[in-house]
Amino acid sequence: MPTDRPGSTLRPAKSKRTEIPAGPKAVISVRGANRLKSGHVWVYRSDVLSAGDAAPGAVVAVADARGRFWGSALYSSSSQIALRMISSGPVRDFPGLLRERVRNALAYREKLVHDTDAYRLVFSEADFLPGLIVDRYNDILSLQILTQAIDAEPVRAALVAELSAQLKPAAISERVDAHIRELEMLPARESGLFVGEKTSTMFTMNGVRFHFDIREGQKTGAFLDQRENYAAAAQHAHGEALDVFCYQGAFALHLAKTCSRVTGVDSSRPALEVADRNALLNQREIAWMEANAFDLLKDYSVARRQYDTIVLDPPAFAKTRKNLETALRGYKELNLRALKMLRTGGILVTCSCSYHVSEGEFLEVVTDAARDAHRTVRLIEKRTQAKDHPILLAVPETNYLKCLVLSVT
Ligand code: SAH
Repeated sequence: MPTDRPGSTLRPAKSKRTEIPAGPKAVISVRGANRLKSGHVWVYRSDVLSAGDAAPGAVVAVADARGRFWGSALYSSSSQIALRMISSGPVRDFPGLLRERVRNALAYREKLVHDTDAYRLVFSEADFLPGLIVDRYNDILSLQILTQAIDAEPVRAALVAELSAQLKPAAISERVDAHIRELEMLPARESGLFVGEKTSTMFTMNGVRFHFDIREGQKTGAFLDQRENYAAAAQHAHGEALDVFCYQGAFALHLAKTCSRVTGVDSSRPALEVADRNALLNQREIAWMEANAFDLLKDYSVARRQYDTIVLDPPAFAKTRKNLETALRGYKELNLRALKMLRTGGILVTCSCSYHVSEGEFLEVVTDAARDAHRTVRLIEKRTQAKDHPILLAVPETNYLKCLVLSVT
């Protein structure tokens, strides 16, 4: 009989006759059970037949109407994702299980993450810790808590204790997303420090240095998921480069290693101010421009400006499947303009972080853009998120970032 094996996979128990442990229980529909059978770890509210007396954020035993035990899940009384599987067996010591999972997440990073002291240490479901994100920026850890279960005080305490013991950070901070707390019906909370007093630090990725401030980075932090793509872009980039949607300048600073001139464009002045400080830190000369990328690319392409390297890394255009069409039009326009502006032999690094736009759809949009721009384009690399943002094959939602490196003839 499976027990709470920390670090075990979340696959449902094989035996049909596993006893349902005592305590709060959720009964799920056949459709919910089939979803778990496929290896997914979520059960939607519409597939929960009853959750009895489960308290918000409780660890519940999950059973189907025929009495089959599917494992243990974290219950949310308000989210559309009512159950997030946490173990294939009963859970007797939840804080202990979480601590073990944090150690496993860290061990996974030790194997797979190189050339950086900034990376995602815990990526929610993909690290079997649904509702928890932990990013490391050198000696400061930044936590995001996304569910009722992880928000509970004893759970917070266990996580902070384990992270402190393992990494001995100078500070642990929490980044609060007010909207998510509202959706989870959690009381409002301020972002701030759990541990320590340090609020800013410097971190290094691929030999490039960055400022990090928990107050500035409150909303976003850095885009750690692009770390390996920065290095790939630098490898292929040359000549005059344009980094569109540059935020705090991470692509631009990497391009500056190999390019003769680099310009970064973003609509956010505060982001560009940090970008400028980052350039100074790395002794690079980069021109930063505050502009709407759509307008700028239009003006530049009409004026026949030319570049050797262009990076497009826009925000997620498709937040839901509903605005997919608009999102695809946005990607098409950006890519079309950029492809028109590239010199022969030029490099386009083009990204989409919209989960709702599949890799196939993204490739199709870029292919259409190339055709309309009358350019022949070769695919050098088809890339995704850095390895510290693991992709669980059975949970497609964990696979969201697309990054194409293209050569234009
Ligand atoms: N490339 C960055 C991440 C980009 S995130 C990195 O790797 O760090 C998306 C950025 O797009 C944000 O900085 C946001 O300010 C900017 N942005 C959003 N809409 C924009 C627009 N219409 N024009 C220019 N920048 C925009």
